[in-house]
Amino acid sequence: MAKVSDIYGSMVFNEHTMQERLPSATYKSLLKTIKEGEPLEIEVANVVAHAMKEWAIEKGATHFTHWFQPLSGITSEKHDSFLDPVSDGRAIMSFSGKELIQGEPDASSFPSGGLRATFEARGYTAWDPTSYAFIKDEVLCIPTAFCSYTGEALDKKTPLLRSMSAIDEQANRVLALFGEEYERVVPTLGSEQEYFLISEKDYAKRMDLVMTGRTMFGYAPCKGQELEEHYFGAIRPTVNEFMKELDNELWSLGVSARTKHNEVAPAQHELAPIFTNVNRAIDENLLTMEKMRLLASHYGLVCLQHEKPFAGINGSGKHNNWSLSKGKRNLLEPGESPMDNLRFLVFLTGVIQAVDNYQELLRMSVASAGNDHRLGADEAPPAIISIFLGDELTEIVDALVDEHEYTNAEKVAMDLGVDVLPNFLKDNTDRNRTSPFAFTGNKFEFRMPGSAVNLSDANMILNTAMAKSLKDFADAMEGKAGEDFESAAIEYIRTTLAAHQRIIFNGNGYADEWTAEAARRGLSNKPTTADALPCFVDPKSIALFEEFGVLSETEVRSRYEVKLEKYNKLLNIEVRTMKRMVRRIFLPAINEYATEVANGINAIRAACAGADVAQQEELLRRLLSGIREIDTQLRALGKLHHETLEIKNEQEKANTYAHEIIPIMDKLRAAVDDLEVLVDRDHWPVPTYNDMLFYV
Ligand code: ADP
Ligand code: MG
Repeated sequence: MAKVSDIYGSMVFNEHTMQERLPSATYKSLLKTIKEGEPLEIEVANVVAHAMKEWAIEKGATHFTHWFQPLSGITSEKHDSFLDPVSDGRAIMSFSGKELIQGEPDASSFPSGGLRATFEARGYTAWDPTSYAFIKDEVLCIPTAFCSYTGEALDKKTPLLRSMSAIDEQANRVLALFGEEYERVVPTLGSEQEYFLISEKDYAKRMDLVMTGRTMFGYAPCKGQELEEHYFGAIRPTVNEFMKELDNELWSLGVSARTKHNEVAPAQHELAPIFTNVNRAIDENLLTMEKMRLLASHYGLVCLQHEKPFAGINGSGKHNNWSLSKGKRNLLEPGESPMDNLRFLVFLTGVIQAVDNYQELLRMSVASAGNDHRLGADEAPPAIISIFLGDELTEIVDALVDEHEYTNAEKVAMDLGVDVLPNFLKDNTDRNRTSPFAFTGNKFEFRMPGSAVNLSDANMILNTAMAKSLKDFADAMEGKAGEDFESAAIEYIRTTLAAHQRIIFNGNGYADEWTAEAARRGLSNKPTTADALPCFVDPKSIALFEEFGVLSETEVRSRYEVKLEKYNKLLNIEVRTMKRMVRRIFLPAINEYATEVANGINAIRAACAGADVAQQEELLRRLLSGIREIDTQLRALGKLHHETLEIKNEQEKANTYAHEIIPIMDKLRAAVDDLEVLVDRDHWPVPTYNDMLFYV
């Protein structure tokens, strides 16, 4: 087997390859573009394109594609070959700087939320040199942004890149106050991807999994996750083989897959990479998800990336570990000296302020039909945003706010004077799994995102909200220096923390008391996507995005439309799937079994006059009343579904799905599930939770 260090990044046009293959002047100006966001000259692009093509062809590539992330959230690619026929009937392989920089996918079928009238349906893709090009299945993939010709973003990446510029600018204004020279500040991200693996054979027999990615029916298995035997357990050989191939593929693509283990739920697993800058980290996560789905089939498995494939069993999340770095330094790392700590406190306060001010936007960024089933249930955080700081930091915050002395017997005493801030130890011992937004020593872990989500929205919002906090601070502090600056900064931290302390909660986020307490604190609680989406178009949100040039009002409105439509379409698919399964799969099977029981009763009576058939009759009665209940709920669902389809306003439609249709879907499911445990195993038409979760 090849050495990992030889495989790693072998399919990536990374800095090492660039340096090897580009003339040094070209390499230097490309690096300037990558590291400092300088614009790229076409002459440079031509040279890069040539080198990239030569490299790609050597690696067996025949095609190239502009790889982008339309608003559907997944990745898109259209392959063009390098082929260029020449007049004598032969062909050369060509690829120009222009083809590298810009592409024109026929984009009329991507969601745009009304941004792009069909007569001007063409958008264009623009090379993002800050994320490396790579070769996947003999195709040179060029990460790109996707915009309309009038300049509006039609993708997930463009606003993310804009938010990165915003945070860079504001963070550097703040750091300049600490006497630091400019160097790009970048948000970093490590995303932990959870997923389920089940057998392909079972999957193929379940219309709900095939159509919606989740089981819409299924009685709880005899054993769930209560024995806690799966978490970190020995990995089954087939799964292990899958994970090995996945690692190798990802490593060759320069994705630093690091940790893999079995998760809490049966058949659930996790992969965590080593963090990198947020733009590349999201590209890598999307690649990881794609490879998981594709490679599973090599082992007769299907990879489920839905946030809640099985009711009553843990859902899958995608924990978003986020921090800010300047060069090699992590800005959320508490430092050694008092000044380091003051800087740390400024950034920490910035995050607290950002998360409190824009809690609804953060909640909105992870809202989806699938995540609605996950949040607030089975080891997932609730739909209420709060921050876990850990005991020590919380004590420091309290001390600052109340202006009392901070004393910690084992550690340091803190004088709240100007120049002696505590030299605190980083506290990452406490792992509060119930917190949606937890400080874990030198980064924040946002745990609300579901496994299926594209993390761009969440990070775009986090970056922009943080840029706002930093801007407020810089605006208030610029012009102050020395002790003046220090005392003003501490006072600023004190008042800001006092104003936003309500968002800090170290307790059990799963407890019912927390819901009541959060309401008392005035924290927002939006249980469903339909409730969570409208805040996107609030004047407060639009003002934030416009202030930092991250999204225009038109872009915000179009994104809100796309999210609403997606939710409504998914729910429509779910209802149709449910109805069809009940009518064509479950009712016929249950009726057949009931008839068999009825025939059995007659047969027994005929064979043995006066036989006691009370049990058989009782079973038959329960089957028949179950069928009746199923039919009642099915009719109710059908009627309301038809009415909902007539609703013109998409928000109203979403509200109806969330608050009226889903409760009926739950009843219909319960009615079918109740019969699953009555009907003979051989008559039950689909694999059960017992079958699917404990396959060998
Ligand atoms: P766990 O949360 O499972 O204990 P770790 O804390 O080691 O695991 O890391 C979880 C994820 O956080 C990993 O993907 C890791 O690369 C990422 N991470 C670590 N440091 C940072 C950072 N400064 N910025 C962003 N992500 C980070
Ligand atoms: Mg973690």
